[in-house]
Amino acid sequence: MSENNKQDLIVIGAGPGGYVAAIRAAQIGMTVRIIEKETIGGTCLNVGCIPTKALYANAGTVNTFRNSAYHGIISSGFELDMKAVLRNKKKIVKQFTLGVKSLLKANKVKTVIGTAKFFGLSELEVETAEGRIERHTADHIIIATGSKSAALPANGADLDVVINSTGALELETVPEHMLVVGAGVIGIELAGIYRSFGSKVTVIEFMPNILPNMDHEVASKLQKEMEKAGIRFFLDSKVVSIEKKDGRAAAKIESGGQTFEETCDVVLNATGRLPNIDGLNLEALGIQHDRQGFIAVDENYETSVKGVYAIGDVIPGFMLAHVASAEGIVAVERINGQDSEVDMNLIPQSVFSFPEFSSIGKTEEELIAQNIDYIASRSYFRGNGKALTMHDAEGIIKVLASPDLQTILGVHILGPHANDLIAESAAAMYSMLTIEEYASIMRGHPTLSEALAEAVENFLGTAIHVPPQRKK
Ligand code: FAD
Repeated sequence: MSENNKQDLIVIGAGPGGYVAAIRAAQIGMTVRIIEKETIGGTCLNVGCIPTKALYANAGTVNTFRNSAYHGIISSGFELDMKAVLRNKKKIVKQFTLGVKSLLKANKVKTVIGTAKFFGLSELEVETAEGRIERHTADHIIIATGSKSAALPANGADLDVVINSTGALELETVPEHMLVVGAGVIGIELAGIYRSFGSKVTVIEFMPNILPNMDHEVASKLQKEMEKAGIRFFLDSKVVSIEKKDGRAAAKIESGGQTFEETCDVVLNATGRLPNIDGLNLEALGIQHDRQGFIAVDENYETSVKGVYAIGDVIPGFMLAHVASAEGIVAVERINGQDSEVDMNLIPQSVFSFPEFSSIGKTEEELIAQNIDYIASRSYFRGNGKALTMHDAEGIIKVLASPDLQTILGVHILGPHANDLIAESAAAMYSMLTIEEYASIMRGHPTLSEALAEAVENFLGTAIHVPPQRKK
């Protein structure tokens, strides 16, 4: 057992919440140690955002090949080399995680590879990768231990034909038929990727809508686009059991009062994620969390125990990398006496589907539920020159504003590069632009941002490429 010097801050977990908090603290001048039990970069860099987007880029290229005739390029077929796809993904992940490692080092953040648990107030016990037990102490400790896949609530969920998102990023062959359980962001993204790779894809969702927390009108347009691409959806449905038959999976599905069986090669469990507090020994200090394990925090991200903070997927709220990072920065700055905060009304949400779907602010359903008056305006990418040249013009932009047009309440974009375009709306909402001010910003031509401008101008009746529409 070895003792370590007391630090200003120890961060448990080196995902986008933890490593960003550690670097921000070092920038401020704190002495910092970060403890990570697996790989620097956490879920996002190793088995989440980055590898899925690597596969998404491959899937997009496949789609470009498929549609190349539209652009006058006649190719004589193509082959998908999954080994090369996985090699490429691994290389990207390695490059990014090595980059983060060297950033930590450059900021003089000491990294310890080991599993941390609370031992006492301000004190952690760490079992290092080499099997040593160490004690580490700090004035402040941030828990940034992230999340893990929730178990599939069905008989047979532990069979080897059932995989989670991590397994879906490691498949060496493209399954003939993939059954995706859960039409949240992860399920929708992987369904689109594997459909592009050539799998037959069936999605089972318990709720009546795909992406249940996003704007329903826009989400149902995405569903239609995915159906056009050949993906089948069973909504209001659930998988009740899975059996292995001749090396394949036979899933029993309840849908619309009927029970039927789907045979597939693999069942992807994308039913959600739960906070990861396993083995942290939170009970030793009495750190409060709910039944699922989400740690309770106040506006400083401080837990029920003074000096112990929690950020990212392990606390209630959005389970997104940029939210984890923002919370990490704010937690550290608040320890430092600054009054920074994360504006939870301005969180961009990105879905890397075909086409992309991005949102910021309130959905129409939230406005109705919260009794907030609003009006909606829409524009369509089919009236946008750049989208037409890209042969990617199926999409909608929906903007929600207060009836006096003084406040932008929400923006929902389905279409090419939606996840980049949303940054413009984030800036407009952050700057509290009125609809008239937002509409008066000039965009270059021909760009996708012109479609966004048209949705905004449409409130004022000044959009040129949108037929006049009735306002709600
Ligand atoms: P994590 O990234 O989960 O990191 C927690 C770290 O803590 C892990 O490395 C873990 O090993 C470590 N740890 C846990 N317990 C201990 C312990 N006792 N001691 C030491 N270390 C410990 N979000 C987006 O914003 N955009 C996306 O495109 C996106 N795509 C995703 C795709 C998939 C397939 C998945 C699964 C997630 C995706 N996410 C995406 C979500 C994103 O990955 C998470 O929101 C983000 O990683 C949360 O960051 P975090 O720092 O809270 O936790």
